[in-house]
Amino acid sequence: MKLILLGPPGAGKGTQAQRLQETYGLIQLSTGDMLRAAVKAGTEVGKKAEAIMARGDLVPDEVVVGIIADRIEQPDAKKGYILDGFPRNVAQAEALDKMLAGKGTKLDAVVELEVDDKILLGRIQGRAAQTAGGPRADDNADALAKRLKVYHEQTAPLVAYYKKQGVLKGVDGMKDIDDVTRQIEAVLGLGAKKGKLA
Ligand code: ADP
Repeated sequence: MKLILLGPPGAGKGTQAQRLQETYGLIQLSTGDMLRAAVKAGTEVGKKAEAIMARGDLVPDEVVVGIIADRIEQPDAKKGYILDGFPRNVAQAEALDKMLAGKGTKLDAVVELEVDDKILLGRIQGRAAQTAGGPRADDNADALAKRLKVYHEQTAPLVAYYKKQGVLKGVDGMKDIDDVTRQIEAVLGLGAKKGKLA
């Protein structure tokens, strides 16, 4: 199964992707996590991405498309994965469609976590306070404002893009974590399949 989790920063994509990974064995592929690892390791990609990420802008499409193209070729991704943080604009979505078509496959579903902007700042501040080793460079009010602006301008159009493809499923991301997980399982028809997916 190949899924995308879509939603604004702080919507809970990472939390839900981890749960799906644990329960169903789907691999979570988070471009944000991969880029942060690259920054930490001081790779060329990391050097290119660090300042861009800290201010809440998008890293160039060719960088993230390249990262995802390599990652989905790995053996552990053969049977399925959850994309978290990618694609983030229409150009990335088109690149992904092309990549999948080239392999004779396509997305099973895109799950949108619907959350009002009003509650996101509180969530991000909560995460900043809880992050071991100190807050992320972009978990502050200024960078969040930028990330939200970028989300609405560049990422939100993907809702219409995937609706048109007939793969979009919406869930209420403002409910508690367990409830959101149950909603995702329901829209994906996963209820009775725990542990059976790969
Ligand atoms: P969040 O979902 O909380 O905004 P992420 O961890 O997904 O955070 O991403 C953090 C930052 O990493 C983004 O603001 C952006 O700079 C960069 N990034 C992650 N994924 C992408 C992507 N697909 N395209 C461009 N930049 C990305």
